[in-house]
Amino acid sequence: MATNRTFTMLKPDAVANGYIGGILKMINEAGFRIVAMKYTQLTKDAAGKFYEVHKERPFYGELVDYMSSGPIVAAILEKENAVADFRTLIGATDPTKADEGTIRKIYAKSIAANAVHGSDSDENAQIEGDFYFSKLERF
Ligand code: UDP
Ligand code: MG
Repeated sequence: MATNRTFTMLKPDAVANGYIGGILKMINEAGFRIVAMKYTQLTKDAAGKFYEVHKERPFYGELVDYMSSGPIVAAILEKENAVADFRTLIGATDPTKADEGTIRKIYAKSIAANAVHGSDSDENAQIEGDFYFSKLERF
């Protein structure tokens, strides 16, 4: 079922580099409404669970270490066609391959420290949002 919601994290590199404001501005200007938002840090254990789908991939260990290395901003975003439109707004995983004007092209440092997460399906958007937010934390 299409929910018109997606889930994002502003990753530790984006937060550490002072890009929270710039990235949120792009998200707002692209027409996404903020349903839920949290400034928090993943434990290694929680990062491992969040990225469990990537367990067999060679970068999993580094990804878990990296995503638990500093605070992040987690959010649920709402818009028509949210999942696909947000993936377009963030650009390719590797910032050197991301289109001009995308969040990753502007703010990401590398394929690992790539500034922002975006859900890849409605199903994962639901699972990932539920990972962070209770019903009472959604508006
Ligand atoms: N990643 C990495 N090396 C790679 C591919 C991915 O470190 O070769 C990291 C990167 O932070 C990426 C995350 O793992 O955002 C999840 O990978 P995925 O393929 O799901 O990319 P995304 O959906 O974030 O574009
Ligand atoms: Mg992904």
